[in-house]
Amino acid sequence: MRWTERQRAMLQAIGVRLFEREAQPAAARPPVRTEPVEVQASTSSARTVPVALEETPGRSQVSLTPSGGLTRSGRSGGVQQTVERVAVVPRPDTSTLDWDALRSAVADCQACALAQSRQRTVFGVGHRQAHWMIVGEAPGEQEDRQGEPFVGTAGQLLDNMLHALGLTRDEAPPERQVFIVNTLKCRPPKNRNPEAAETAQCAPFLERQIALVQPRIILAMGRFAAQALLASDEPLGRLRGRMHQYHGVPVVVTYHPAYLLRSPADKARAWEDLCLAATVVPGG
Ligand code: SF4
Repeated sequence: MRWTERQRAMLQAIGVRLFEREAQPAAARPPVRTEPVEVQASTSSARTVPVALEETPGRSQVSLTPSGGLTRSGRSGGVQQTVERVAVVPRPDTSTLDWDALRSAVADCQACALAQSRQRTVFGVGHRQAHWMIVGEAPGEQEDRQGEPFVGTAGQLLDNMLHALGLTRDEAPPERQVFIVNTLKCRPPKNRNPEAAETAQCAPFLERQIALVQPRIILAMGRFAAQALLASDEPLGRLRGRMHQYHGVPVVVTYHPAYLLRSPADKARAWEDLCLAATVVPGG
């Protein structure tokens, strides 16, 4: 990939050492397929739903189910086994909501305990037909106060990373203006990690946002965003560096900007992830 002078300046600003190389194709991966798995929801009898599975023996999967359950399952002797179930309250059917109805549903949501401690829900911002969708983890203190994702110094770093690819959160055509959203719409107290039941409960909102935007590429930032989108419990280090799929949409996993602020040595890897995503959908 060749960088423009503007991109070079932006890369230097975010602390990424410049390099010139041809874009690498995504590493060959076994195809993701779906297979029926029996799950138990809190409000209904056992049912069978399609769950994404990778053809990799010995790995467990964390799966969000349409009925609101969350399963952790794996293969043993070639047989799919559900080994853990997390029951959550019935999840809303968001499949027919338009943008306004979806925003209202998020603002009014009391479905998990995070509603009690939040100041504001954080719905997401950006172009409603954005080619690039950025999925983070959960609101932090400033996001909770302002109602916008990725603000503060982590947000500034994200903005600079996006600018380096010719992308922006400011008003622009859909090939340039991204849509930024979090997996959870409410802040976990004291910025603790999201719990599995909270992620499962909030998933219909993110699912509908993705269905409405219909992005051409999703950038999952941070372990919890990646694991929720990909129904996986693999560590981030094993998820990044290759292409995934979410209902047919390519997904690239990378570090959360807040982590990069603490571990600047990994900025170069994050930039490699962005370059991998740009091989699918070039920046603006
Ligand atoms: S985190 Fe999601 S599910 Fe929980 S209250 Fe907020 S919007 Fe509702």
